[in-house]
Amino acid sequence: MRVAIFGTGYVGLVTGTCLAEVGHEVVCVDIDQAKVTGLENGVIPIYEPGLEPMVKANHAAGRLRFTTDPAQAVAHGEVIFIAVGTPPDEDGSADLQYVLAVARTIGSHLRKPAVVVDKSTVPVGTADKVRAAIAATLAERGADVDFDVVSNPEFLKEGAAVEDCMRPDRIVIGADSPAAVEKLRRLYAPFNRNHERIVSMDVRSAELTKYAANAMLATKISFMNEMANIAEKVGADIEMVRQGIGSDPRIGWHFIYPGAGYGGSCFPKDVQALARTAQQNGHAATLLDAVEAVNERQKAHLFELMLRHYGEGALRGKTIALWGLAFKPNTDDMREASSRRLLQLLWDAGAMVRAYDPEAMDETRRIFGERDGLVLCDSADDALRGADALVVITEWKQFRSPDFASLRQRLADAVVFDGRNLYEPDDVEAAGLAYYGIGRGRSI
Ligand code: NAD
Repeated sequence: MRVAIFGTGYVGLVTGTCLAEVGHEVVCVDIDQAKVTGLENGVIPIYEPGLEPMVKANHAAGRLRFTTDPAQAVAHGEVIFIAVGTPPDEDGSADLQYVLAVARTIGSHLRKPAVVVDKSTVPVGTADKVRAAIAATLAERGADVDFDVVSNPEFLKEGAAVEDCMRPDRIVIGADSPAAVEKLRRLYAPFNRNHERIVSMDVRSAELTKYAANAMLATKISFMNEMANIAEKVGADIEMVRQGIGSDPRIGWHFIYPGAGYGGSCFPKDVQALARTAQQNGHAATLLDAVEAVNERQKAHLFELMLRHYGEGALRGKTIALWGLAFKPNTDDMREASSRRLLQLLWDAGAMVRAYDPEAMDETRRIFGERDGLVLCDSADDALRGADALVVITEWKQFRSPDFASLRQRLADAVVFDGRNLYEPDDVEAAGLAYYGIGRGRSI
């Protein structure tokens, strides 16, 4: 099938690559000339496990092309995806300017029938706006071309995006037209073998499904962080509590890890946008507001533990080794990362940070540039040079089993702040280090 994809970010690039991998003819279009030129020359703009060889192989095979020319992309696509960003507007609602700009672009180039598929995460009712924008642009041209607008939200996880795309748990298709559903069924047939993964529904339900999924996951995280903070106050260990509740199949093991707060390009903005949609429709989303408030507070929690250890004002002049910068492991994405809040709090307190992340160093450099108070290090070990304390904020595998005896030698103040509960307090303390985790009331 001939596919065009607008937006070559995490979602567009991975989707396009996976569709090419199963034999479709894909043209990816982006307004970012540097990104497109890079991709045409084998430079992959993001880090995702398994993505690079797949992009290169499909590009070499001629099934995956990159362009900045929307006319070429629209002329190519019988299925046209919109996979551009939907960042938060000032009031927290989703900013649809990029999605609607693409809709108008499609309208101004469409010459033959197509199914337009919204893959960006967009508020309920957006498909109607996309349809209206395409229709208006067609009308301006005096053109009359059949098209459908379908909602097909994306559920891939950064860090496992290729795997998720190749083996999806479900493929949600929201459409009013049976022909459009059929077309997407054929497109996704290679990913829908062995058992049925396609859940087809009306457009609005599909649009809401994406927000409901992210809001549920964010709720689980904030719930556990709330429990962790209670555990800390009452002298209980949240890791014991986690095991006690996760074994209940109604609760389950997934997404019940307490930590330094959720970040990334999706949960924070999607929880906010859903709350805003609710409000605009006359419903106060009390739970969603609380999920967000708990997360905001949690992002400062590690710093509060540091203040508790050092005392107010005593972080001035300290050198902190920071392990992890990405918002989660296996990605270089730092959008809304908890590390960013911590860095700011540490700088405001007069501390210096020696930071290391296995994949996010370029991104950190791009965001902060050269600045006082930040030394970008070549390795986890390098970050420890001259450090007073260690903070771990991203749970990369390589941070999981440090030599605590060596840490004791390296860290002048002999203290570890573990923002992801990677370590057993007893192990750390046995090496003569002070240990602070999240919700580990027994050890604080
Ligand atoms: P991104 O910021 O990584 O990429 C968006 C791309 O769109 C950029 O390369 C940008 O240059 C391009 N773009 C903007 N305007 C354009 C236009 N008019 N024509 C062509 N390209 C244009 O975004 P992303 O992380 O891939 O997210 C895209 C959407 O998917 C968002 O709505 C997001 O909420 C949703 N989503 C993201 C994830 C994720 O893990 N990142 C997962 C599921 C859903």
